[in-house]
Amino acid sequence: MTNHTTGRTVPAVTTAERIHLIDIGINLTHRSYAADRDAVMARAQAAGVVQMLVTGSSAASTREAVALASAHPRRLFATAGVHPHYADEWSAQVASELATLAGSSEIVAIGECGLDYYRNLSPPALQRDAFHQQLELAVSAGKPVFLHQRDAQADFVAILREHRAHLSGAVAHCFTGTAADLECYLEMQLFIGITGWICDERRGAHLLPLMRTIPAQQLLLETDGPYLMPRDLEPKPASRRNEPAYLPHIAATVARARGETLAQLATQTTANARQLFHLPIIH
Ligand SMILES: [Zn+2]
Repeated sequence: MTNHTTGRTVPAVTTAERIHLIDIGINLTHRSYAADRDAVMARAQAAGVVQMLVTGSSAASTREAVALASAHPRRLFATAGVHPHYADEWSAQVASELATLAGSSEIVAIGECGLDYYRNLSPPALQRDAFHQQLELAVSAGKPVFLHQRDAQADFVAILREHRAHLSGAVAHCFTGTAADLECYLEMQLFIGITGWICDERRGAHLLPLMRTIPAQQLLLETDGPYLMPRDLEPKPASRRNEPAYLPHIAATVARARGETLAQLATQTTANARQLFHLPIIH
């Protein structure tokens, strides 16, 4: 199906097979969406992506995410947090601003927060400090956390364990780890966020056999757009920019790996997202 307004191809969804999906991680305030954000949102809706969580990754992007969410009530929600890449921006002022924002109804989770030693764009000690403080914020705000971890598993788990019992809920966003990492997360009762990384035949193939080991009630789906374009889309989009309209493609890959229908997986993951983030039911 071609959208004649934009000339872009979107997955065809007929009424009979209408599914409802929730993209729990979309960086919709990213500059790459600035020129056509409404069209991106319309394509998402047409593809069955009925609700989305706009990721906050700094104080500034959290402010933008809240503004965007408040302009689209019941469809868009936001997270409030500082990504480990920006942990060096963490300050008492940022902490107090996030604490204020965290109280707003648009904010349904704290994060994205965590540790990223792969790039170490901020010094690890600052990352750990910002992570600790955001977990404490999540506890005081009574909201779940949206977690990022890359090449920092041991420190990440150690810090998370200190706070886990007091957290209302948590999702390991963009899970790309090993069977052992997954086992550890499941044992900590984390939700697991799966992105289009799983569609990457070079670096995502190890995830396919792990899909069956995730309890249905702990599975969530996300695009992490504009990043992580699914590599196996047919036909290949002209742009490398990922967007929420591709979530059904990711969902179909996960459903196949679990031996479920797309409809089953959509129903389950949508219910999971609504439960974890306390989202209203809409169609
Ligand atoms: Zn991330």
